[in-house]
Amino acid sequence: MDFIQYRHSNLTAAFSHRGAVETSHTSANSLTIRSPCNLVSATSQQSPTTSECPDSEKNPKNCWAFPIEMADFQLHEGRHFLQIPGPTNLPDRVLRAMHRPTIDHRGPEFATLTHSVLSRLERVFGSSGPVVIFPSSGTGAWEAALVNTMSNGDRLLMYETGQFAHLWRGVADRLGIDVEWIEGDWRHGVDANAIATRLSEDKERRVRAVAIVHNETSTGVTSDIERVRAAIDNAGHQALLIVDTISSLASIDYRHDEWGVDVTVGGSQKGLMLPPGLGFNALSEKALQASKSADLPRSYWDWSAVIEANGAGFFPYTPATNLLFGLDEALDMLFEEGLEAVFLRHARMARAARAALSAWGLENFAVLPSEYSNSLTAALMPKGYDADELREAILTRFDMSLGTGLGKVKGKVFRIGHLGHLNDLMLTGTLCGVEMGMNLAGIPHRAGGVDAAMRVLEETR
Ligand code: PLP
Repeated sequence: MDFIQYRHSNLTAAFSHRGAVETSHTSANSLTIRSPCNLVSATSQQSPTTSECPDSEKNPKNCWAFPIEMADFQLHEGRHFLQIPGPTNLPDRVLRAMHRPTIDHRGPEFATLTHSVLSRLERVFGSSGPVVIFPSSGTGAWEAALVNTMSNGDRLLMYETGQFAHLWRGVADRLGIDVEWIEGDWRHGVDANAIATRLSEDKERRVRAVAIVHNETSTGVTSDIERVRAAIDNAGHQALLIVDTISSLASIDYRHDEWGVDVTVGGSQKGLMLPPGLGFNALSEKALQASKSADLPRSYWDWSAVIEANGAGFFPYTPATNLLFGLDEALDMLFEEGLEAVFLRHARMARAARAALSAWGLENFAVLPSEYSNSLTAALMPKGYDADELREAILTRFDMSLGTGLGKVKGKVFRIGHLGHLNDLMLTGTLCGVEMGMNLAGIPHRAGGVDAAMRVLEETR
Protein backbone atom coordinates (compact mmCIF):
# COMPACT_ATOMS: atom_id res chain seq x y z
CA MET A 1 0.00 0.00 0.00
CA ASP A 2 1.29 3.43 -0.86
CA PHE A 3 1.37 6.02 1.87
CA ILE A 4 1.85 9.49 0.60
CA GLN A 5 2.49 12.67 2.53
CA TYR A 6 1.25 15.82 0.84
CA ARG A 7 2.13 19.15 2.17
CA HIS A 8 1.74 22.74 1.19
CA SER A 9 2.28 23.73 -2.41
CA ASN A 10 3.85 20.38 -3.31
CA LEU A 11 0.43 18.87 -3.07
CA THR A 12 -0.68 19.08 -6.67
CA ALA A 13 2.76 18.16 -7.94
CA ALA A 14 2.85 15.10 -5.70
CA PHE A 15 -0.48 13.85 -6.97
CA SER A 16 0.49 14.42 -10.60
CA HIS A 17 3.69 12.54 -9.98
CA ARG A 18 1.77 9.55 -8.67
CA GLY A 19 -0.37 9.35 -11.80
CA ALA A 20 -3.42 11.38 -10.86
CA VAL A 21 -4.80 12.89 -14.00
CA GLU A 22 -6.46 15.85 -12.43
CA THR A 23 -6.57 17.61 -9.10
CA SER A 24 -8.70 20.47 -7.97
CA HIS A 25 -9.67 21.95 -4.65
CA THR A 26 -12.67 23.80 -3.46
CA SER A 27 -11.38 25.32 -0.28
CA ALA A 28 -8.15 25.63 1.64
CA ASN A 29 -8.49 22.19 3.20
CA SER A 30 -10.44 20.18 0.67
CA LEU A 31 -9.02 18.47 -2.35
CA THR A 32 -10.46 16.39 -5.16
CA ILE A 33 -8.27 13.95 -7.05
CA ARG A 34 -9.32 12.18 -10.21
CA SER A 35 -7.05 9.18 -10.36
CA PRO A 36 -7.07 6.65 -13.23
CA CYS A 37 -9.38 4.41 -11.24
CA ASN A 38 -11.31 6.67 -9.04
CA LEU A 39 -12.52 9.99 -7.91
CA VAL A 40 -11.49 10.69 -4.38
CA SER A 41 -12.41 13.72 -2.39
CA ALA A 42 -10.36 14.38 0.68
CA THR A 43 -11.07 16.95 3.34
CA SER A 44 -9.79 17.56 6.80
CA GLN A 45 -12.68 15.47 8.09
CA GLN A 46 -12.16 12.59 5.70
CA SER A 47 -9.13 10.44 4.96
CA PRO A 48 -10.13 7.90 2.31
CA THR A 49 -8.52 4.48 2.33
CA THR A 50 -7.83 2.06 -0.47
CA SER A 51 -10.78 -0.07 0.55
CA GLU A 52 -13.08 2.81 -0.40
CA CYS A 53 -11.81 2.68 -3.95
CA PRO A 54 -14.26 0.79 -6.16
CA ASP A 55 -11.40 -0.36 -8.37
CA SER A 56 -9.20 -1.70 -5.59
CA GLU A 57 -9.38 -5.37 -6.53
CA LYS A 58 -8.85 -4.93 -10.24
CA ASN A 59 -6.27 -2.24 -10.11
CA PRO A 60 -4.80 -1.91 -6.60
CA LYS A 61 -1.85 0.19 -7.71
CA ASN A 62 -4.12 3.05 -8.61
CA CYS A 63 -5.73 3.17 -5.21
CA TRP A 64 -3.99 5.09 -2.54
CA ALA A 65 -4.33 5.46 1.15
CA PHE A 66 -4.24 8.93 2.64
CA PRO A 67 -2.77 8.76 6.13
CA ILE A 68 -2.66 12.53 6.12
CA GLU A 69 -4.09 15.33 8.09
CA MET A 70 -5.58 17.44 5.34
CA ALA A 71 -5.74 20.39 7.68
CA ASP A 72 -1.92 20.24 7.68
CA PHE A 73 -1.56 21.81 4.34
CA GLN A 74 -2.24 25.14 2.88
CA LEU A 75 -2.96 25.56 -0.79
CA HIS A 76 -1.47 28.64 -2.38
CA GLU A 77 -3.66 30.09 -5.10
CA GLY A 78 -1.37 33.07 -5.59
CA ARG A 79 1.58 34.36 -3.63
CA HIS A 80 1.58 33.68 0.08
CA PHE A 81 1.72 36.97 2.00
CA LEU A 82 4.60 36.69 4.44
CA GLN A 83 3.94 39.68 6.68
CA ILE A 84 5.67 38.55 9.84
CA PRO A 85 8.44 40.88 10.99
CA GLY A 86 11.03 38.59 9.50
CA PRO A 87 11.98 36.49 7.75
CA THR A 88 10.71 38.83 5.05
CA ASN A 89 9.69 38.46 1.42
CA LEU A 90 12.58 37.56 -0.89
CA PRO A 91 12.91 39.68 -4.03
CA ASP A 92 13.04 37.65 -7.25
CA ARG A 93 16.42 39.23 -7.97
CA VAL A 94 17.84 37.84 -4.74
CA LEU A 95 16.33 34.42 -5.41
CA ARG A 96 17.83 34.36 -8.89
CA ALA A 97 21.22 35.49 -7.59
CA MET A 98 21.32 32.55 -5.17
CA HIS A 99 20.08 30.09 -7.76
CA ARG A 100 23.45 29.29 -9.28
CA PRO A 101 26.20 26.76 -8.77
CA THR A 102 28.24 27.09 -5.60
CA ILE A 103 31.81 28.17 -6.35
CA ASP A 104 35.15 27.27 -4.82
CA HIS A 105 35.31 29.23 -1.56
CA ARG A 106 39.11 29.29 -1.83
CA GLY A 107 39.22 30.50 -5.43
CA PRO A 108 39.71 33.99 -6.93
CA GLU A 109 36.05 34.47 -7.86
CA PHE A 110 35.12 33.99 -4.23
CA ALA A 111 37.63 36.58 -3.02
CA THR A 112 36.02 39.16 -5.31
CA LEU A 113 32.60 38.30 -3.86
CA THR A 114 33.85 38.66 -0.26
CA HIS A 115 35.41 42.05 -0.91
CA SER A 116 32.32 43.29 -2.73
CA VAL A 117 30.03 42.21 0.09
CA LEU A 118 32.14 43.38 3.02
CA SER A 119 32.93 46.86 1.76
CA ARG A 120 29.28 47.61 1.09
CA LEU A 121 27.90 45.89 4.18
CA GLU A 122 29.94 48.30 6.32
CA ARG A 123 28.01 51.18 4.74
CA VAL A 124 24.69 49.57 5.69
CA PHE A 125 25.80 49.56 9.32
CA GLY A 126 27.15 53.12 9.01
CA SER A 127 30.49 51.70 10.02
CA SER A 128 34.04 52.23 8.85
CA GLY A 129 35.35 49.26 10.82
CA PRO A 130 35.17 45.57 10.09
CA VAL A 131 31.91 43.66 9.83
CA VAL A 132 32.24 39.98 10.70
CA ILE A 133 29.87 37.57 8.93
CA PHE A 134 28.95 34.23 10.45
CA PRO A 135 26.88 31.46 8.89
CA SER A 136 24.41 31.66 11.75
CA SER A 137 21.07 32.91 12.92
CA GLY A 138 20.84 36.14 14.88
CA THR A 139 21.23 34.20 18.11
CA GLY A 140 24.71 33.16 17.00
CA ALA A 141 25.57 36.79 16.32
CA TRP A 142 24.37 37.66 19.86
CA GLU A 143 26.69 35.02 21.29
CA ALA A 144 29.60 36.19 19.14
CA ALA A 145 29.17 39.77 20.41
CA LEU A 146 29.35 38.57 24.01
CA VAL A 147 32.13 36.00 23.88
CA ASN A 148 34.47 38.37 22.07
CA THR A 149 34.06 41.20 24.55
CA MET A 150 33.34 39.72 27.98
CA SER A 151 35.56 38.03 30.56
CA ASN A 152 34.78 35.85 33.54
CA GLY A 153 33.35 37.98 36.33
CA ASP A 154 32.38 40.84 34.03
CA ARG A 155 28.94 42.34 34.41
CA LEU A 156 26.62 43.02 31.49
CA LEU A 157 23.94 45.68 31.87
CA MET A 158 20.81 44.79 29.90
CA TYR A 159 17.41 46.41 29.51
CA GLU A 160 14.11 44.54 29.25
CA THR A 161 12.50 45.90 26.09
CA GLY A 162 10.63 42.67 25.27
CA GLN A 163 11.01 39.03 24.37
CA PHE A 164 14.20 39.41 22.34
CA ALA A 165 15.92 41.22 25.19
CA HIS A 166 14.86 38.25 27.36
CA LEU A 167 16.23 35.71 24.90
CA TRP A 168 19.53 37.57 24.63
CA ARG A 169 19.74 37.65 28.39
CA GLY A 170 19.30 33.87 28.34
CA VAL A 171 22.37 33.57 26.11
CA ALA A 172 24.39 35.74 28.50
CA ASP A 173 23.19 33.76 31.53
CA ARG A 174 24.16 30.46 29.94
CA LEU A 175 27.61 31.84 29.17
CA GLY A 176 28.02 32.51 32.90
CA ILE A 177 27.99 36.29 32.47
CA ASP A 178 26.81 38.30 35.48
CA VAL A 179 23.76 40.09 34.06
CA GLU A 180 22.38 43.24 35.67
CA TRP A 181 18.83 43.47 34.38
CA ILE A 182 16.78 46.65 34.23
CA GLU A 183 13.10 45.78 34.09
CA GLY A 184 10.89 47.46 31.52
CA ASP A 185 7.16 47.29 30.73
CA TRP A 186 7.70 46.18 27.09
CA ARG A 187 5.66 49.12 25.81
CA HIS A 188 8.50 51.62 26.08
CA GLY A 189 12.05 51.65 24.77
CA VAL A 190 15.28 51.76 26.74
CA ASP A 191 15.24 54.41 29.46
CA ALA A 192 18.62 56.10 29.05
CA ASN A 193 18.32 57.70 32.50
CA ALA A 194 18.02 54.29 34.13
CA ILE A 195 21.20 53.21 32.31
CA ALA A 196 22.98 56.36 33.52
CA THR A 197 21.88 55.73 37.12
CA ARG A 198 23.06 52.11 37.13
CA LEU A 199 26.40 53.03 35.61
CA SER A 200 27.04 55.83 38.07
CA GLU A 201 26.41 53.34 40.89
CA ASP A 202 29.03 51.00 39.42
CA LYS A 203 31.92 52.34 41.48
CA GLU A 204 34.02 49.22 41.01
CA ARG A 205 33.61 49.40 37.25
CA ARG A 206 32.40 45.84 36.99
CA VAL A 207 30.04 46.61 34.10
CA ARG A 208 31.95 45.69 31.00
CA ALA A 209 29.20 46.40 28.49
CA VAL A 210 25.64 47.61 28.00
CA ALA A 211 23.60 45.42 25.64
CA ILE A 212 20.30 46.65 24.22
CA VAL A 213 17.90 45.93 21.37
CA HIS A 214 17.45 48.81 18.91
CA ASN A 215 14.13 47.64 17.49
CA GLU A 216 12.29 45.20 19.75
CA THR A 217 10.61 42.86 17.29
CA SER A 218 8.21 41.46 19.87
CA THR A 219 6.66 44.86 20.61
CA GLY A 220 7.29 47.26 17.71
CA VAL A 221 9.22 49.67 19.93
CA THR A 222 12.43 51.39 18.77
CA SER A 223 14.94 52.76 21.27
CA ASP A 224 17.07 55.88 20.99
CA ILE A 225 20.65 54.62 20.73
CA GLU A 226 22.28 58.05 20.75
CA ARG A 227 20.69 58.82 24.11
CA VAL A 228 22.01 55.59 25.58
CA ARG A 229 25.51 56.37 24.32
CA ALA A 230 25.26 59.85 25.85
CA ALA A 231 24.09 58.31 29.14
CA ILE A 232 27.15 56.04 29.25
CA ASP A 233 29.50 58.92 28.45
CA ASN A 234 27.86 61.30 30.91
CA ALA A 235 28.26 58.73 33.66
CA GLY A 236 32.00 58.79 32.88
CA HIS A 237 31.86 55.04 32.31
CA GLN A 238 34.00 53.05 29.88
CA ALA A 239 31.34 50.38 29.19
CA LEU A 240 31.11 49.07 25.66
CA LEU A 241 27.80 49.58 23.90
CA ILE A 242 26.44 46.48 22.14
CA VAL A 243 23.29 46.92 20.05
CA ASP A 244 20.99 44.38 18.38
CA THR A 245 19.75 45.72 15.02
CA ILE A 246 18.33 42.45 13.76
CA SER A 247 14.95 43.96 12.85
CA SER A 248 16.13 47.49 12.08
CA LEU A 249 19.21 47.03 9.92
CA ALA A 250 18.57 48.28 6.36
CA SER A 251 15.08 49.45 7.25
CA ILE A 252 15.43 52.01 10.06
CA ASP A 253 18.14 54.69 10.12
CA TYR A 254 21.14 53.35 12.02
CA ARG A 255 24.66 54.74 12.44
CA HIS A 256 27.20 52.49 14.11
CA ASP A 257 30.12 54.97 14.02
CA GLU A 258 28.24 58.20 14.51
CA TRP A 259 26.27 56.89 17.49
CA GLY A 260 29.37 55.45 19.13
CA VAL A 261 28.29 51.82 19.12
CA ASP A 262 31.00 49.23 19.78
CA VAL A 263 29.34 46.06 18.52
CA THR A 264 26.29 46.04 16.28
CA VAL A 265 24.54 42.70 15.90
CA GLY A 266 22.63 42.00 12.68
CA GLY A 267 20.97 39.21 10.75
CA SER A 268 20.18 38.51 7.11
CA GLN A 269 16.48 37.69 7.20
CA LYS A 270 14.80 41.05 7.68
CA GLY A 271 15.72 44.42 6.14
CA LEU A 272 18.40 42.79 4.03
CA MET A 273 15.73 40.76 2.19
CA LEU A 274 17.63 37.49 2.45
CA PRO A 275 16.74 34.09 3.85
CA PRO A 276 17.80 33.40 7.44
CA GLY A 277 21.32 32.11 7.84
CA LEU A 278 23.79 35.00 8.13
CA GLY A 279 24.68 36.73 11.40
CA PHE A 280 26.74 39.93 11.59
CA ASN A 281 28.87 41.80 14.08
CA ALA A 282 30.01 45.32 13.15
CA LEU A 283 32.94 46.37 15.32
CA SER A 284 34.49 49.55 16.66
CA GLU A 285 38.20 49.91 17.34
CA LYS A 286 37.42 49.80 21.06
CA ALA A 287 35.57 46.50 20.63
CA LEU A 288 38.51 45.05 18.72
CA GLN A 289 40.88 46.08 21.50
CA ALA A 290 38.52 44.60 24.10
CA SER A 291 38.44 41.30 22.24
CA LYS A 292 42.19 40.92 22.70
CA SER A 293 41.86 40.61 26.46
CA ALA A 294 38.35 39.12 26.75
CA ASP A 295 38.72 35.64 28.20
CA LEU A 296 35.38 33.84 27.73
CA PRO A 297 36.06 30.65 25.76
CA ARG A 298 35.43 31.09 22.05
CA SER A 299 36.37 29.24 18.92
CA TYR A 300 33.84 29.31 16.09
CA TRP A 301 32.76 32.82 17.09
CA ASP A 302 36.27 34.26 17.31
CA TRP A 303 36.34 37.53 15.35
CA SER A 304 40.10 37.55 14.84
CA ALA A 305 40.22 34.40 12.73
CA VAL A 306 37.46 35.72 10.45
CA ILE A 307 38.96 39.18 10.10
CA GLU A 308 42.36 37.73 9.24
CA ALA A 309 40.97 35.40 6.57
CA ASN A 310 38.70 38.15 5.19
CA GLY A 311 41.79 40.23 4.41
CA ALA A 312 42.54 37.87 1.55
CA GLY A 313 38.85 37.47 0.67
CA PHE A 314 38.23 34.18 2.45
CA PHE A 315 36.74 32.67 5.63
CA PRO A 316 38.29 30.29 8.17
CA TYR A 317 35.48 27.80 7.50
CA THR A 318 33.24 26.91 4.56
CA PRO A 319 31.09 30.01 4.18
CA ALA A 320 27.40 30.12 3.18
CA THR A 321 28.38 30.86 -0.41
CA ASN A 322 24.92 31.08 -1.96
CA LEU A 323 23.65 33.34 0.80
CA LEU A 324 26.60 35.60 0.03
CA PHE A 325 25.52 35.67 -3.64
CA GLY A 326 22.13 36.77 -2.38
CA LEU A 327 23.68 39.36 -0.09
CA ASP A 328 25.69 40.82 -2.96
CA GLU A 329 22.47 41.25 -4.96
CA ALA A 330 20.52 42.63 -1.98
CA LEU A 331 23.26 45.23 -1.47
CA ASP A 332 22.97 46.19 -5.16
CA MET A 333 19.25 46.70 -4.63
CA LEU A 334 19.68 48.74 -1.45
CA PHE A 335 22.24 51.06 -3.01
CA GLU A 336 20.28 51.43 -6.25
CA GLU A 337 17.34 52.67 -4.19
CA GLY A 338 19.64 54.56 -1.81
CA LEU A 339 19.72 53.91 1.92
CA GLU A 340 17.99 57.21 2.70
CA ALA A 341 15.15 56.27 0.35
CA VAL A 342 14.95 52.81 1.91
CA PHE A 343 14.50 54.36 5.37
CA LEU A 344 11.89 56.82 4.07
CA ARG A 345 9.98 54.01 2.35
CA HIS A 346 9.83 52.13 5.63
CA ALA A 347 8.72 55.25 7.48
CA ARG A 348 5.86 55.72 4.97
CA MET A 349 4.77 52.10 5.24
CA ALA A 350 4.78 52.33 9.02
CA ARG A 351 2.73 55.56 9.02
CA ALA A 352 0.18 53.95 6.73
CA ALA A 353 -0.03 50.82 8.89
CA ARG A 354 -0.54 52.96 11.99
CA ALA A 355 -3.23 54.99 10.22
CA ALA A 356 -5.06 51.73 9.51
CA LEU A 357 -4.73 50.65 13.12
CA SER A 358 -6.18 53.84 14.54
CA ALA A 359 -9.01 53.91 11.97
CA TRP A 360 -9.92 50.37 13.05
CA GLY A 361 -9.84 51.54 16.65
CA LEU A 362 -7.06 49.15 17.61
CA GLU A 363 -4.36 50.26 20.00
CA ASN A 364 -0.71 50.36 19.00
CA PHE A 365 1.23 48.32 21.56
CA ALA A 366 4.02 50.91 21.46
CA VAL A 367 2.99 53.85 23.63
CA LEU A 368 5.21 56.73 22.55
CA PRO A 369 4.99 58.03 18.97
CA SER A 370 8.73 58.80 19.11
CA GLU A 371 9.34 55.08 19.69
CA TYR A 372 7.00 53.66 17.04
CA SER A 373 8.86 51.14 14.94
CA ASN A 374 9.14 51.68 11.21
CA SER A 375 9.65 48.00 10.49
CA LEU A 376 6.69 46.46 12.29
CA THR A 377 3.53 47.42 14.14
CA ALA A 378 2.17 45.39 17.04
CA ALA A 379 -1.60 45.72 17.44
CA LEU A 380 -3.23 45.15 20.80
CA MET A 381 -6.37 42.99 20.60
CA PRO A 382 -9.66 44.16 22.09
CA LYS A 383 -10.17 42.55 25.52
CA GLY A 384 -11.53 39.01 25.36
CA TYR A 385 -10.31 38.32 21.82
CA ASP A 386 -7.37 36.10 20.99
CA ALA A 387 -4.80 37.39 18.50
CA ASP A 388 -3.76 33.89 17.49
CA GLU A 389 -7.32 32.95 16.53
CA LEU A 390 -7.44 36.01 14.30
CA ARG A 391 -4.07 35.11 12.80
CA GLU A 392 -5.23 31.59 12.15
CA ALA A 393 -8.41 32.79 10.41
CA ILE A 394 -6.32 35.10 8.23
CA LEU A 395 -3.86 32.36 7.37
CA THR A 396 -6.53 29.82 6.53
CA ARG A 397 -8.77 32.11 4.52
CA PHE A 398 -6.33 34.60 2.97
CA ASP A 399 -3.02 32.75 3.02
CA MET A 400 -1.27 35.52 4.91
CA SER A 401 1.10 35.05 7.87
CA LEU A 402 1.17 37.73 10.56
CA GLY A 403 3.53 37.76 13.54
CA THR A 404 2.33 36.03 16.69
CA GLY A 405 2.53 37.59 20.14
CA LEU A 406 5.68 36.39 21.89
CA GLY A 407 6.29 35.61 25.54
CA LYS A 408 4.01 37.44 27.93
CA VAL A 409 2.00 39.10 25.13
CA LYS A 410 1.05 35.81 23.44
CA GLY A 411 -2.56 36.00 22.30
CA LYS A 412 -2.71 39.69 23.21
CA VAL A 413 -1.00 41.21 20.18
CA PHE A 414 -0.49 40.41 16.55
CA ARG A 415 2.35 41.94 14.60
CA ILE A 416 2.28 43.31 11.08
CA GLY A 417 5.72 43.16 9.49
CA HIS A 418 6.27 46.02 7.04
CA LEU A 419 9.95 45.73 6.33
CA GLY A 420 12.23 44.57 3.59
CA HIS A 421 10.98 44.02 0.07
CA LEU A 422 7.65 45.85 0.27
CA ASN A 423 5.72 48.40 -1.78
CA ASP A 424 2.43 50.27 -1.49
CA LEU A 425 0.29 47.50 -2.91
CA MET A 426 1.91 44.79 -0.83
CA LEU A 427 1.19 46.85 2.27
CA THR A 428 -2.40 47.69 1.31
CA GLY A 429 -2.97 44.04 0.40
CA THR A 430 -1.67 43.10 3.83
CA LEU A 431 -3.98 45.58 5.53
CA CYS A 432 -6.91 44.31 3.43
CA GLY A 433 -6.13 40.84 4.75
CA VAL A 434 -6.19 42.14 8.33
CA GLU A 435 -9.46 44.04 7.82
CA MET A 436 -11.20 41.15 6.07
CA GLY A 437 -9.82 38.77 8.69
CA MET A 438 -11.27 40.87 11.51
CA ASN A 439 -14.66 40.85 9.76
CA LEU A 440 -14.42 37.08 9.35
CA ALA A 441 -13.34 36.42 12.92
CA GLY A 442 -15.87 38.82 14.43
CA ILE A 443 -13.28 41.11 16.01
CA PRO A 444 -14.88 44.41 17.04
CA HIS A 445 -13.42 47.24 14.97
CA ARG A 446 -14.45 50.16 12.82
CA ALA A 447 -14.34 49.98 9.03
CA GLY A 448 -12.00 52.17 7.00
CA GLY A 449 -8.50 51.12 8.06
CA VAL A 450 -7.39 50.33 4.53
CA ASP A 451 -8.80 53.65 3.25
CA ALA A 452 -6.91 55.51 5.95
CA ALA A 453 -3.68 53.76 4.97
CA MET A 454 -4.29 54.52 1.30
CA ARG A 455 -4.73 58.20 2.09
CA VAL A 456 -1.37 58.28 3.87
CA LEU A 457 0.30 56.55 0.94
CA GLU A 458 -1.30 58.94 -1.56
CA GLU A 459 -0.34 62.01 0.44
CA THR A 460 3.25 60.98 1.03
CA ARG A 461 4.19 59.58 -2.38
N1 PLP B 1 16.98 39.89 17.95
C1 PLP B 1 15.87 40.35 17.36
C2 PLP B 1 15.50 41.79 17.55
C3 PLP B 1 15.09 39.50 16.59
O1 PLP B 1 13.98 39.98 16.00
C4 PLP B 1 15.48 38.15 16.46
C5 PLP B 1 14.67 37.22 15.66
O2 PLP B 1 13.62 37.52 15.17
C6 PLP B 1 16.63 37.72 17.10
C7 PLP B 1 17.36 38.62 17.83
C8 PLP B 1 17.05 36.29 17.06
O3 PLP B 1 17.46 35.98 15.76
P1 PLP B 1 17.37 34.48 15.23
O4 PLP B 1 15.97 34.03 15.42
O5 PLP B 1 17.77 34.62 13.77
O6 PLP B 1 18.34 33.68 16.01
